[in-house]
Amino acid sequence: MPEHEERQDEVEALLMRAARHAAAYRTAPPAPQSASTYAEAVRAFDGVLPEEGEGGPGVIEDLVRCAGPGLHATTGPRFFGWVIGGSHPVGLAADWLTAAWGQNTANHVAAPAAAASETVAARWLLDVLRLPPESSVGFVTGATMASFVGLAAARGAVLRRVGWDVEAKGLFGAPPVRVVIGDEAHASVFSALQYLGFGAASLLRVATDAQGVMRPEAFDAALSSDAAGDGPLIVVTQAGQINTGAFDPHAHIVGRAHARGAWVHVDGAFGLWARACPSRAGLADGVERADSWATDGHKWLQTPFDCGYAIVRDAEAHRRAMTIAASYLPPAGGTERDPSHYVPELSRRARGFATWALLRHFGRAGIAAMVERHCVQARLLAELLEGEPGIAVINEVVLNQVLVRFGADRPEEEGDALTLAAIAAVQADGTCFAGGAKWRGRWAMRVSIIGYATGEDDIRASAEAIRRCWRSVACAAVGR
Ligand SMILES: *Cc1c(COP(=O)(O)O)cnc(C)c1O
Repeated sequence: MPEHEERQDEVEALLMRAARHAAAYRTAPPAPQSASTYAEAVRAFDGVLPEEGEGGPGVIEDLVRCAGPGLHATTGPRFFGWVIGGSHPVGLAADWLTAAWGQNTANHVAAPAAAASETVAARWLLDVLRLPPESSVGFVTGATMASFVGLAAARGAVLRRVGWDVEAKGLFGAPPVRVVIGDEAHASVFSALQYLGFGAASLLRVATDAQGVMRPEAFDAALSSDAAGDGPLIVVTQAGQINTGAFDPHAHIVGRAHARGAWVHVDGAFGLWARACPSRAGLADGVERADSWATDGHKWLQTPFDCGYAIVRDAEAHRRAMTIAASYLPPAGGTERDPSHYVPELSRRARGFATWALLRHFGRAGIAAMVERHCVQARLLAELLEGEPGIAVINEVVLNQVLVRFGADRPEEEGDALTLAAIAAVQADGTCFAGGAKWRGRWAMRVSIIGYATGEDDIRASAEAIRRCWRSVACAAVGR
């Protein structure tokens, strides 16, 4: 048999082997929901670097064996930890092809289909999220990098307005740029700001209410403060607070920020998708008037990791911030879009394929229905849990996030200990997975309902398990 044919057989066998493992995993997600510890996972993978190479099938079998115990059931219907989408099978299939095709998505000449899929998916994203159609979209690794890109465009634009070309002259010696941001902004936004030269101590932080959103009067005070001055200004808001799911008051903020000449950037990693759901869109009123937005594909759109979108109304500011030379702009009238002009990376995977595939698979109605379903499930879970003595839901459930406090009638310190014990019991029980988060100085269990596969029966079973775990924790506490 000619060598080439033999290799074709081998490639097919190898890929089919991986596909069988993947299908087995996806049709029977691991139980319990929790993974082994990191130290156990390292032991599973450990060994010395082999001197000689090994055959593909053996390596893949070993990968499956080594990874197994350390896999969290994040794609399953009862995984409520962090804010993690379900890596939908249609996106997964598209992502396999993405890897198989191996397109380098730097530009439209090297990868015409990859570039084109981004062009069309970008248009669809703006449509479904109801954002200005003239905006440009960069396909990045996630919302952290999306905020980095949006804020880089913001930095360039507000400095350009005072005659400083940051892309050419850099930040040293530039007029100071002030940043106004809510006290409960996501940690990743502070990282993005840090990469851009805005240290945490230099930010003007705005006091928030019980839902973690900026108080309008505190925002107004920050905007007109001496510290804000009257120079270049960026305002960072949030659509979907990580703990409560709540939205900053954009209808109040955006107009005032613009009147002051500020750029408004919105972190909407998951919450921006409320705009795709008619019954929740009101939460995000005014968001569409901002200047840039960060959101994720790998949360509510259920794309595989990694996938986020940096959206900027002023496409030229976007491109200037992400191209190497400030003076470089492709010739006017060019219709091709080069993916690398909108993101930090040059070589990267083709994220447009999975995004395009999932937008087609769900459609506008499917996305709206999924967001609505998760929000209804969050309310149901909150109701079921609140029926149990000693459990309190401490956020107003406006979206898909539920914050649960155990020992709610106990003194705060004791409530913290009981809450941590209840979280550990829930994780050990394995019916569902949820983690802990500190909210306003106190521990809570955070339940994020965002996986496509979650059904009402999963919510009921999870609520029952959480109540059962809490009863045993409460009993043990009384017995002490
Ligand atoms: C998840 C999240 C982020 C960070 O997004 P990544 O995709 O992890 O980079 C930022 N903000 C909020 C509100 C989030 O939920």
